[in-house]
Amino acid sequence: MKILVINCGSSSLKFQLIDAVTEELIAKGLCERIGIEGSQLVYQPTGKDKVTTITPMEDHTQAIRLVLNALSDKETGVVKDLSEIGAVGHRIVHGGEKFASSTVITDEVIKAITDCNELAPLHNPANLIGIAACQELMPGTPMVGVFDTAFHQTMPKEAYLYGIPYEYYEKYKIRRYGFHGTSHSYVSKKAAEVLGQKYEDLKLIVCHLGNGASVSAVKNGKCIDTSMGLTPLEGLIMGTRSGDIDPAIMEFIAHKEGKSIDDVMTILNKKSGVLGLSSNLSSDFRDLQAAYEKGDDAGIRTMETFAYRVTKYIGAYAAAMNGVDAICFTAGLGENSSFIRNMICSRLGYLGITLDQTQNEKRGEDLVITTPESTTKVLVIPTNEELAIARETYALVK
Ligand code: ADP
Repeated sequence: MKILVINCGSSSLKFQLIDAVTEELIAKGLCERIGIEGSQLVYQPTGKDKVTTITPMEDHTQAIRLVLNALSDKETGVVKDLSEIGAVGHRIVHGGEKFASSTVITDEVIKAITDCNELAPLHNPANLIGIAACQELMPGTPMVGVFDTAFHQTMPKEAYLYGIPYEYYEKYKIRRYGFHGTSHSYVSKKAAEVLGQKYEDLKLIVCHLGNGASVSAVKNGKCIDTSMGLTPLEGLIMGTRSGDIDPAIMEFIAHKEGKSIDDVMTILNKKSGVLGLSSNLSSDFRDLQAAYEKGDDAGIRTMETFAYRVTKYIGAYAAAMNGVDAICFTAGLGENSSFIRNMICSRLGYLGITLDQTQNEKRGEDLVITTPESTTKVLVIPTNEELAIARETYALVK
């Protein structure tokens, strides 16, 4: 069965067509600037040339129509007929407390996802638009929702409650939810495979370090804590998001700079993180690493503060699990930067970690990058959220 995986943002739409049985990627692509001037579709059938089509896309329905046309195109398409697509898996950012696992999309499920909109106002409405567009164009094809928050629903109360009046949890469900769950789940399971051990026997820490970044503690096959919170703003220092701060800083900035709460939220989401910390040098870690290597002060303080925060979370989660068997690095920075892995792991000698530098320099595969003597293993596992979504979808519809 072929599964279409859709990741719908407010003005973009990423897709992959995956063979659920062989797990091969058949085609992938991206619609950009949906509803904005200059929209384009980039379509890449596996093993063939990329096709870029610059064409107006008024809305997501039109974007998905173009995607389906590309997939079934006589010359460059990969299916003869759209009926070959057996199901659609949708990435959904926030499932609140309602979804602890993936689910077949029904009217009831759509209502429940809509109820979570206020917890993720930038993401969930876009995800819902993607579902509606697919339902319109592919009536009768089963759809599955795979939630970024679901994997973290196993967290115990002590990990997900905040130290604020309990009534806010009761009234508004203010608590830690965590995100990147599909990635944390995929990577932690893969780590058990690579280590040749049972998932249920392991204590793992997964560091998903991309533009958005989060850490999770996975004990005996269940997530017991994660660094992102009610929203993806908490935790590590990210590309443009602040991560953990003293909440009083918000009031302080608002008073000093004459800003509203919305203004301060924009600063914390879009102008902070490594971008803000480096005095706007860059939000891209490649630039920051280059600046560090040149001895640039902004590059040095930013990389060191970023790495320190990751190290602190690793220590906290090793404590939370009363030990750790392996630490996994994934996502853009975690997978590709031997430099950041060195910087973080050089602070983890107390866990019996020594990196094997030859292994650490490799890329693009599942790797153990510690020496055989290291008592805690460090792994690099390229994440594959789309494949994880296709697997979940297939499991529910086959
Ligand atoms: P997201 O999916 O959250 O947008 P990604 O997982 O794609 O993010 O990661 C993007 C980040 O990874 C960028 O900050 C980029 O600088 C970083 N990155 C990618 N390749 C490298 C590399 N070779 N060295 C250092 N950083 C890298």
